[in-house]
Amino acid sequence: MGQWKPALLSIAPFGKNYNRDIEVESRTGGGRYTVNLYSYTCTCPDFTERRAMRPIGDLGRSCKHLRDAVLSLDSDAFGDELTRVIFKSPHGPYERIWFAPVSGGDVMALGMRSDKPWLSLFYRGGSEKSYTRYGYHPEEKRWAYDSVPPEVEMILGLLKSVPDISLNE
Ligand SMILES: [Zn+2]
Repeated sequence: MGQWKPALLSIAPFGKNYNRDIEVESRTGGGRYTVNLYSYTCTCPDFTERRAMRPIGDLGRSCKHLRDAVLSLDSDAFGDELTRVIFKSPHGPYERIWFAPVSGGDVMALGMRSDKPWLSLFYRGGSEKSYTRYGYHPEEKRWAYDSVPPEVEMILGLLKSVPDISLNE
């Protein structure tokens, strides 16, 4: 079975014609932030404190304001199917994303946020054509909504080797 690799999911770089400041409201009220798709920056604390060091094109660089700005373009021009599924997940935006190869040449992805205990697993089993997101709580060892992925034993085995989380036995 495969190993986890850091995912460099690519959002298509936005060219100079996107070099303008977009004012956005804080979703939690109060502040206003400035988003720029060309530099792929935002002035919110989530971006400046946790995401700014990630390279452009790394999905982990996207705060929710950058994500909203990209989605408002109504373009699916960025990335492949898995990139889009991860990017659009309402449980994100994730800071760290890992990939692991699974049987059949497919890829499984794992998204993590430092402010949430849940892992998001993106997987399509055997005959499934599109990715499904499964929430897993590693400390409580349970799946969200009792929604258990196919080949769960293989997946749980793989989860033990994710590099930057400790899954207690
Ligand atoms: Zn932001």
